[in-house]
This record gives sequence, structure tokens and C-alpha cells, in this order.
Amino acid sequence: MAQINDHYLKLQAGYLFPEIARRVNAFCEANPDAAVIKMGIGDVTQPLAPAIVKAMHEAVDEMANAETFRGYGPEQGYPFLREAIAKNDFQDRGIDVSADEIFVSDGSKCDSGNLLDIFGSDNVIAVLDPVYPVYVDTNVMAGHTGPADENGRYGKLVYMPVTAETNFEPAIPDQHVDLIYLCYPNNPTGTVASRETLTKWVEYAKEHDAIIFYDAAYEGFVSDPDVPRSIFEIPGARDVAIELRSFSKTAGFTGTRCAFTVIPKTLMGKTSDGQEKDIHSLWNRRHCTKFNGVSYPVQRGAAAAYSDEGKAQVQELVSFYMNNARLLREGLEAAGLEVFGGVNAPYVWVKTPDGISSWDFFDQLLEKSHIVGTPGSGFGAAGEGYFRLSAFNSLENTQTAIERIQKSLAVSS
Ligand SMILES: *Cc1c(COP(=O)(O)O)cnc(C)c1O
Repeated sequence: MAQINDHYLKLQAGYLFPEIARRVNAFCEANPDAAVIKMGIGDVTQPLAPAIVKAMHEAVDEMANAETFRGYGPEQGYPFLREAIAKNDFQDRGIDVSADEIFVSDGSKCDSGNLLDIFGSDNVIAVLDPVYPVYVDTNVMAGHTGPADENGRYGKLVYMPVTAETNFEPAIPDQHVDLIYLCYPNNPTGTVASRETLTKWVEYAKEHDAIIFYDAAYEGFVSDPDVPRSIFEIPGARDVAIELRSFSKTAGFTGTRCAFTVIPKTLMGKTSDGQEKDIHSLWNRRHCTKFNGVSYPVQRGAAAAYSDEGKAQVQELVSFYMNNARLLREGLEAAGLEVFGGVNAPYVWVKTPDGISSWDFFDQLLEKSHIVGTPGSGFGAAGEGYFRLSAFNSLENTQTAIERIQKSLAVSS
């Protein structure tokens, strides 16, 4: 019989979202008339911007014509898109990133997992807690961890708790680590990292020859001019960081699929015999071997997000969601809840009232207010006592949800 990858058996079987679905289904069966509002999963709800749709239509027409038809494109992405990204997201903001340091892909989720292909198995790996589960699970699959303990924490990983007590700032590790996952603006907490904080991380990484995986999927939601939108705004970051970006949340591409990863040519790792080797060429080799590029119409759509029209329309989408986030934050605070995030990110992170557990608050919100959120403990042990609500919804649903939560909390207190 063929041998399987035993590391998969260590996985805590995707507990969070199936368990949410199970409880919601049970509730809906028992209460078929309840109008349940789903504010759990982080997925966009608004249609693609018109400038993007137009560019995609035109690209499809090109594919329908023998003169303009295109087959395989460059694995790394078409120059028109890589150049638009380099100029608009980096160079126009004074950040040193060139088009050939950008690798276009079909998603940041896959990129963050695939990156592990080019790293060895003996690295010490640090993650935030609570955390985007993909970082942890892909390391489990790659055999980089021990089994999970009773809190669901895997052996060998270094967990860095982020809670209100430390202002959602992870402490710099007091030990050596090789790979560090940072996600800002953060999913799930909706909080951001200051320039000072990121500078400390870059300094740590330099001192320890570590590499930072910087997930900036929510960069487009930053409105505060003092909050960094890229790790590469920090001096020296080109020598220690990889940045992951996605069109998913910012431009509504969750179903369309386009993202990119920035690997500076100055970033180095070491071979098992101690030689320096650049990461860019390894990733290029991996990407070209295992990936054949994002579809042409999708890349045209992504590039249209950088036209004047596209930028304005994408900004409108972001503002729409961020208005929901503001209403959520203010409405929940008015209801007496302690609320974090939601200013430069489309998530609010709520402290559960009276210290009840994340899952108890989930049940209470579902039963009394018919609202589905995400229990913080599902993102890690340090998420216990918190709850995530998403601003990706219609204005009407957001307003109704706030009214219901205010009513139920007023009744119970
Ligand atoms: C949504 C999200 C992404 C984007 O993933 P895609 O595969 O590009 O859709 C990446 N990181 C985090 C933390 C996310 O929440």
C-alpha cells in the first residue's frame, strides 16, 4: 500500500468553520423563521468594480480572436501587471521594489503555504496567537511541527500571544527563531502594527538572520497615514522580508483569484553547508516548475485596479466596508462591549462580555440575536475570550446586526 504523509494526521481536522456550520444548521433547523445574519467568514460581498469588469470583458474578447489570442503567459505574471504593481503599490510611495521582484499568483493562501517548499525543515518558526490558521496548518503538513497539545498548540512552533493586555503587540521572541509570520492589518484582530513595531521586527530579523513572511492582504484598508502599508517601508526590510499581497479583499477578487508575492533580490538564506543562497531565484524556480500563471483576463482585471478609474472605484468599495466597520465598532461600544480593530481593517475583535468563553458568546449571539460571528478561540488559545465580526456585508445587514446586539445586551444586563 502507498504510504501517506503522516503529518496530515496531526492536523486538528479543520475544527473551526465546520463546527460553526454545524451549530448554525442546528439552530436554523430548530428556528426556520429566524433571519440569520452571517458575519463570520471573511469574504467580500460587493460586486467587482466596473473598470475591472470592463477590462476582463475586453480580455475575453481578445482571447476569442485569432490575432489577439494568447496561450501560456509568463509564469511570474505579465509585465503590464507586474509593472503596474511595482509603480503604484511601491515606487510611487517611495518604496524600492522592482517589477521583477513581483510574482503574480492565484492567491496569497497558496503562496503562504507554497513558500515552505523552498525552506528547510529545521527552521524555528514563530506565529502570532491568534493566527490565520493557514500559516500553522501548512507547517504541520510540511512536517515542521510536533503533535498538538490539549490547547491545539503544535510542538516546535513558537506562539506569540497578542491580547488587549499587551495592546495587541507581540513580544519580540526572547529566543532565536528563523521564520516569522506577521500579518498586518491583522486577521483576526483587525489591529495594525506601528512603524516602531515593524522596525523592531526588522532589527530582530537582521540580528538573527531570520526571514519575515509579511502578509499584507488587508493593506488596502489602511487609512491612517502613519500606519505602514508595506514591510518594505521599513529601512533594511529588503534584506529580511517577503511580502504577500492579494487582490482578494481590497478589490473583491476572492472568487476571481489574483495575488502576488514580493521577494527582494537581496534576500538570502543559507544552505545546509553554510553557503548563502538568494531566495528570489529559488522561488522563481519553484514558481515556474509548479505554476503556469494566472489567466490573462484576470490579470487584465487586476491591472485595471490601478487605472485612475479603477483606483477610485476600488477605494469606494474599501470605504463601503470601512463604513460598516465603523458602525460596528461604534454600535458595539455603545452596547457596552470592549471593541478592538475595525479602524484600518475590516474586522472588529470584541472582548466577550463578563468574561464568558468565545463559544458561549457565539451561542448567545446566535440564539438571542440570530447573528453568526467567529469565536476567537478558533484562531488560537490566546483568542479565547474574544470574538470576530466581519464588516464584509451589506449596510442593511450591518445595521440590523448592531440593533439586535444592542437590544439583546440591554435585556440581559
Ligand atoms: C483573505 C486572506 C488572504 C488572501 O487569500 P487569497 O488566497 O489571496 O484569497 C491572505 N491572508 C489572510 C490573513 C487573509 O485573511
